[in-house]
Amino acid sequence: MKWEDNVRKVIPYVPGEQPNKENMIKLNTNECPYPPTPNVKKAVEAFDTEKLRLYPDTNATPLADALSDYYHVDKKQIFIGVGSDDVLAIAFMTFFNSNKKILFPDITYSFYDVWAELYRIPYQVQPLDEEFKIRREDYMIPNGGVILANPNAPTGEQTDLATIEEIIQANQDVVVIIDEAYIDFGGESSLPFIEKYDNVLVVQTFSKSRAMAGLRVGYAFGSEKLIQYMNDVKFSFNSYTMNLPAQVFGAEAVKDDKYFRETVQKIVHTRERVKGELRELGFVFTDSMSNFIFATHPRCQAVELQNMLREKSIYVRHFTKERIDNYLRISIGTDAEMDTLLGELKAYIQSK
Ligand code: PMP
Repeated sequence: MKWEDNVRKVIPYVPGEQPNKENMIKLNTNECPYPPTPNVKKAVEAFDTEKLRLYPDTNATPLADALSDYYHVDKKQIFIGVGSDDVLAIAFMTFFNSNKKILFPDITYSFYDVWAELYRIPYQVQPLDEEFKIRREDYMIPNGGVILANPNAPTGEQTDLATIEEIIQANQDVVVIIDEAYIDFGGESSLPFIEKYDNVLVVQTFSKSRAMAGLRVGYAFGSEKLIQYMNDVKFSFNSYTMNLPAQVFGAEAVKDDKYFRETVQKIVHTRERVKGELRELGFVFTDSMSNFIFATHPRCQAVELQNMLREKSIYVRHFTKERIDNYLRISIGTDAEMDTLLGELKAYIQSK
C-alpha cells in the first residue's frame, strides 16, 4: 500500500515472556522474588479513591520528595518516569541529537539499539572483550553520546568507578548515561559523579531491588540543567505520565530502607550460594553483581537446557544473539525456587 511508505517502521524490543501458569518458577525477567514492603500494602488499603478524580501531580512530588530525602539529591536534579525504560527513552530523545554516532557495547541491554533506530540516532556498538568487560579506549573516540549499563545486562559484569570516570572525562562534550537498573545488588553507583560533571545522567528503577516491576517507576539523577532538558521533552509529549497511586506507593517503598536492605541482602546471599552450586555442576559464568547469573555449560546447549526447564514450568532467559547464544540468564529467585532449578539442572546434566 502506498500509505505504508510514510510509516515509521520499527523492529520492536522483545521483552521476556510473561507466562501466567500456576506454580511456575519465573526466573526470566529479573523481577524481585519477594513482595514490596508491607507499608506499600498499607498504603494501597488506605488509598482514597476520591483522589483519582483529579489529574495527578505532573512532578510526582510525593515520590520526588522521598527520593530526594533518601539519596540527598535536590529535587531539581531528579527526573521521574514510568519505569526506567521511559526515563531512558526520553533521555535518548533529549540528549542523543547530533549526527555523530552514540556508543554502547555489542552486548548490553537490547533496548538501546531499538531506541536508536526508533529516533534515527546513528550508533556504533563496541565489542566487549573476551571476558565481557568493556574496553575504556572504545569510548574515547569522537561520538554523539555514550550509554553504559552498570552492572551490564545480560552479563551482570560491573565496571569499576575509576574506569567510568575516565570515560566521563574523555566525553565532556556529550551526555554520558549510566543505566544502573541493577546497582543495588553489590555495584558501586556513579551517583556522586552528577555533582562533579554536569553531563552525566544516572538512571535507576524500582523494578528490581525495590520489588515493584508492576508499578512502573524509574528515575534519573543529573545536573539541574540535564533534568530541565529532559522535563522539557517530557512535557512536550505527555505531562501526566505517572499516575497518582504509583507516586504514593512508590514513595512508601523508598521510605522503608530497612526492608529494602534486607530484601537486597537475601537476594545477594542466594546469588552467591547459587554461583557455588552452578560451578559444581560445571557451569561457567561472569561474577555477576546483579540479581541474575549469566551462565553457559561446556557440555549442554543453552537452548536445550531452557527447553528442559520450561517443561518443568521453570522459565529462564535465552538470547539468540551472536556471542551469547549459548548462555542462559537466570534471575535470582527465592532459595526454594533456586533449589528446584538446581535439582532439575543436576538431574539433567548427570543424565547426559
Ligand atoms: N535497564 C536495564 C539494563 C534493564 O535490564 C531493564 C529491565 N528490562 C531496564 C533498564 C528497564 O527496567 P524498567 O523499565 O522496569 O525500570
